[in-house]
Amino acid sequence: MDASTTDDSMHLAAGAAAPDHDHGHDRDLGQAAWRGFQRRCPACGTGPMMKGYLQVRDTCTVCGEELHHHRADDGPAWLTIILVGHLMAPVLGWAFMEFRPDPMVLTAIFAIGTVALSLWLLPRFKGLMVGFQWAKRMHGFAPDAPDPARKGA
Ligand SMILES: [Zn+2]
Repeated sequence: MDASTTDDSMHLAAGAAAPDHDHGHDRDLGQAAWRGFQRRCPACGTGPMMKGYLQVRDTCTVCGEELHHHRADDGPAWLTIILVGHLMAPVLGWAFMEFRPDPMVLTAIFAIGTVALSLWLLPRFKGLMVGFQWAKRMHGFAPDAPDPARKGA
């Protein structure tokens, strides 16, 4: 408990509301996942999770929560493919049957739409996965877990 007291002092000194992490109790999975989807720190909900487009920050700039423990790997890409593929395939069929557009017009619209939706979703799904792992204390997010293969960059 000494360590967590020190943590809270640090957060308060930084001017942020002390997030309730590292006390060993359950973390709100839905809240953490939603904060992650918004690309915000799962602990405080205010600090930006990403540095650039996809790179997760080592620590939250607002509350100091360590975020480098995540192991999102290629999970976000799989989630994006699953959602965009299952969304675009039936919509493509419907658009063709409904409007019978010129094939090149249909191709152009769906190529742009698919790429745009994928690029929009990818960092959000990554944030969601990081939030999920944080809430479930997976990998190094557990209070006393050893830090396996620190993924700084
Ligand atoms: Zn934070």
